[in-house]
Amino acid sequence: MRTIFTIRLFAIAIITALLSACNGTEVVVERPDYVLVIHGGAGTLDPDDMTPELKQEYLDRLNAALDAGEAILKEGGSSLDAITAAIIIMEDSPLFNAGKGAVFTNQLEVELDASVMVGEDLNAGAVAGVTDVKNPIRAAIAVMNNSPHVMMAGSGASLFAEEQGLEIVENEYFHTERRLKQVKEAMEISPDHFGGTVGAAALDINGNLAAGTSTGGMTNKKYGRVGDSPIIGAGTYANNETCAISATGHGEYFIRNTVSKDISARMLYGGHSFIAAADYVVNNRLADLGANGGIIGVDRYGNVAMPFNTTGMYRGYTKSTGEREVKIFR
Ligand code: ASP
Repeated sequence: MRTIFTIRLFAIAIITALLSACNGTEVVVERPDYVLVIHGGAGTLDPDDMTPELKQEYLDRLNAALDAGEAILKEGGSSLDAITAAIIIMEDSPLFNAGKGAVFTNQLEVELDASVMVGEDLNAGAVAGVTDVKNPIRAAIAVMNNSPHVMMAGSGASLFAEEQGLEIVENEYFHTERRLKQVKEAMEISPDHFGGTVGAAALDINGNLAAGTSTGGMTNKKYGRVGDSPIIGAGTYANNETCAISATGHGEYFIRNTVSKDISARMLYGGHSFIAAADYVVNNRLADLGANGGIIGVDRYGNVAMPFNTTGMYRGYTKSTGEREVKIFR
């Protein structure tokens, strides 16, 4: 009788292991104290188009963003503070399509979107179409922390940001020659294109996840167009039960496929691993629709995923274990 019971238990253990393997469930060794993962946008990046100096500039900025966030996590700071610090470094750099250096609309203005989410209580904040808030990620956090709302848009969002004491600038502050040239080319050749959005996701020492995204959207976008970046569940999502994600790519597809929430749902309801779920959504679901882009994120165990279906994605991560990687191409 006892032997049959032992055999049964053994069989159940084997079946569970096999099912886990099929679902791609991660075998958790030990959760790192903290993890920070960032992106500076995905797109049709050609290594031959990039001088070694420009490539180095991007790598340096990505490393600076990781350093800023990691300094907070190392001291026991929150994942929200870490992603904020990392995103602000990229918003302030003219290299990326967020804050200074963001892309132009077809009316030659800059309209910015940003969002943030914390995994502990699913709290979230976002702003859309703001034209004068220096760091839109700060405005998204203010909406989350200091208003009863999740998303505010346009002039109302700007007014709120000003009342919150955030720095307000002229639209010209965001303008760069490079983006002006890009939008003029886009007006002649292609209707619109994406790239350079920034985002970050982190796991802190308390096991809390957070994610945020900030962007100028698509080059040559129509006035008032809002992409996936400020939409919770599309461009940004965080849930302590699963993962924290920031997305980049052709926003319309990312909204229609609720990309970041879909990845989390596959983990929560389907038992899939983060890496398997993220890879499937980016390289199957989106790719099959002809939707270009990628995501970066971290799960509750500290596993990092950075899949993309474009030629490149500015990306990097750092862990308390000392592991760090910063890359642009495959
Ligand atoms: N996803 C952004 C948007 O559609 C663009 C990007 O990621 O570069 O607004």
